[in-house]
Amino acid sequence: MKKVLVCGAGGFIGSHLVNALKSEGCWVRGADLKFPEFSETQADDFLIGDLRNQDFVSRVVDLRFDEVYQLAADMGGAGFIFTGENDADIMHNSGLINLNFLDACHKRNIKKIFYSSSACIYPEHNQTDPQNPLTEESSAYPANPDSDYGWEKLFSERLYEAYARNYNMECHIARYHNIFGPEGTWDGGREKAPAAICRKVALAKSEDVIDVWGNGEQTRSFLYIDECIQGTLKLMRSNFYGPVNIGSEEMVSINNLVSIVSSVANKKISINHIDGPVGVNGRNSDNRLIKKKLSWEPSLSLEDGISKTYSWILEQIQKN
Ligand code: NAD
Repeated sequence: MKKVLVCGAGGFIGSHLVNALKSEGCWVRGADLKFPEFSETQADDFLIGDLRNQDFVSRVVDLRFDEVYQLAADMGGAGFIFTGENDADIMHNSGLINLNFLDACHKRNIKKIFYSSSACIYPEHNQTDPQNPLTEESSAYPANPDSDYGWEKLFSERLYEAYARNYNMECHIARYHNIFGPEGTWDGGREKAPAAICRKVALAKSEDVIDVWGNGEQTRSFLYIDECIQGTLKLMRSNFYGPVNIGSEEMVSINNLVSIVSSVANKKISINHIDGPVGVNGRNSDNRLIKKKLSWEPSLSLEDGISKTYSWILEQIQKN
């Protein structure tokens, strides 16, 4: 039986990944500061602790796992990573987790590692035109991410690449683009745009007005969680290491996103644009490399993903 470790298994993507690995028949250990918030973990073993602590990391990595996935990070949506208020914590906490983790994997002679980087590593100057953002993988350098969250991800990408080069490890690196879906954070300040907009629309009555940060013309693409997991497993089981984008190419403005959510909710909603952290003007996944290397790309429409996510958030609101 394949033995697999998922760090960050109490988080959004990590908990979905554990479920997918369990349905494949793997033996799975999860590690996180907390258990998943919205459903019981399916992991066979789950260690609660702080991955900034090297002793804890050594206990987590005390088996020769066949595969390890490192998703733990101090992160959140625009309200958390783009205000500048959390930069020191983000860089210190996530940096330490990756430093500790790779050291422990090297000492335990673990060879196959997945690391979740982010589209936030791409240079700000290539994302000023909302209609023509550039996120081809090779455009990452010369580097100029617009947030310290992006700089930490870029540093850690290089750390994984250095360990792969010097210690004969296989480090597969994905640059995720805005993953969303059920069981993701939907309130409290760390939620991302799709969840925040679903929550606001769910709480509004038809004809109500909701607040949106910026002028709403900023563009993004959003990838549904099941397809993120599919792409992650495809990359990990391939002989391609990346870094590679895992995202959707269906780019929309945030104003469009509000229209999609409103139509799924069957409500007429208007927008009040207010000041707030918006990040770069435009971003979309460039999927040419993943198509070429893995013969794979996501296919679910944004509307279908939003429909599943909206129903789940509505349920959470009604429960609360
Ligand atoms: P998440 O916040 O839901 O999960 C991260 C998990 O890491 C959390 O459960 C948290 O408790 C855990 N963690 C943080 N600090 C820890 C510590 N010191 N010790 C132990 N555990 C700790 O985030 P997510 O959306 O599931 O993202 C997973 C990974 O993917 C992260 O590395 C994130 O940066 C990356 N990513 C996510 C997105 C996205 O849109 N969700 C986009 C790009 C990259």
